[in-house]
Amino acid sequence: HTKDSVKVAVRVRPFNKRERDAGSRCIISLVSTSISIQDPRDCHNRRSFCFDYAYWSHSGFTRDHTGLFVPEEPGGRYADQDSVFQDLGVGILENSLQGYNATLLAYGQTGSGKSYSMVGYGPNKGLVPKLCDRLFEAIRENQENRQCQVFFSMLEIYNEQVVDLLFRGSRTAGGLRVREELQRGFYVEGLRKIPCENALQVEQLMEQGTRTRTTAATQMNANSSRSHMLIILQLKQIFSKESITKQSNINLVDLAGSERQRSSGSEADRLKEGTAINLSLTTLGNVISALADVAVGKKVVHIPYRDSVLTKLLQSALGGNSRTVMIATLSPADICYEESLSTLRYAERAKRIQNRAVVNESPTE
Ligand code: ADP
Ligand code: MG
Repeated sequence: HTKDSVKVAVRVRPFNKRERDAGSRCIISLVSTSISIQDPRDCHNRRSFCFDYAYWSHSGFTRDHTGLFVPEEPGGRYADQDSVFQDLGVGILENSLQGYNATLLAYGQTGSGKSYSMVGYGPNKGLVPKLCDRLFEAIRENQENRQCQVFFSMLEIYNEQVVDLLFRGSRTAGGLRVREELQRGFYVEGLRKIPCENALQVEQLMEQGTRTRTTAATQMNANSSRSHMLIILQLKQIFSKESITKQSNINLVDLAGSERQRSSGSEADRLKEGTAINLSLTTLGNVISALADVAVGKKVVHIPYRDSVLTKLLQSALGGNSRTVMIATLSPADICYEESLSTLRYAERAKRIQNRAVVNESPTE
């Protein structure tokens, strides 16, 4: 066992059009890995936090002829997708090749850059596609003494229902069941696991899953920012000479928007959403708080993993057998002060969690 705390990164995006039109002020500043936020109504109220990584993606960028966001000048301040991947993605990939489970979570209010960081848009590929590119590269480079298999799954949690994004029928059937087994822990029964040979295949599956997610959301008149998206990459390495099999899961999670949910649907929908959607995110917060208390030596009787679908599926990532990284994304604007401060507080708690990751190896059957 190696004890290992959850690594936390923060990232500040550029102003969006709405913020520019409103003449917003930037209330976030970064110095190395410390970040501070200024209360726009009280110039004496400034709070500072320190994280493992802090990314300034607010200014100092330009777009090249392909539409790629790059620093204005070489070595400039702007943190692009590549530099985030170098810090957060490469480590996760190396861990999983060694046989450790790994989890990457994106947390933040809607529009703050979670999907941009995790998945990316167009040429600005995010952590997931970059990680897949590298994973298959690593597999190709070292083929003599091991055989590798990669499986891809993609699901959504909405109203505490699990929907397989690679299988349209699962939503109409009322969602998939989460089950528990002694060895395996919690898992989704019947979730599709697609074997993949290359990064292009993964990319196509991600597109398919994203399409299913948005069309379903439109049909149900729901907002996909209220659902959690989870990609599970399963890596199986069979070392024939040693007769050892290593198996590791990489969980990649684009969480629902962290803002207090304001529903626009019917009264019934509102009630259902108010309890259920928040249930997973609220429970995640409770689990993180409880684990943070454990880490500072407080007596904690109960970690409420079982209270929501999300925390069941992330149980091993939170205080268990996983190397875990959280990226907390922030709007730079004064109008988002309350939400940004709450994101920073949440991230600060997550930083305290201690995991115990082990290499998952067993004799090849
Ligand atoms: P979320 O998933 O948190 O709701 P998005 O990732 O969709 O938010 O980001 C909202 C908008 O901000 C998108 O148009 C995205 O392109 C832009 N954006 C987010 N982060 C960055 C960044 N680091 N650099 C440039 N643009 C960004
Ligand atoms: Mg998003």
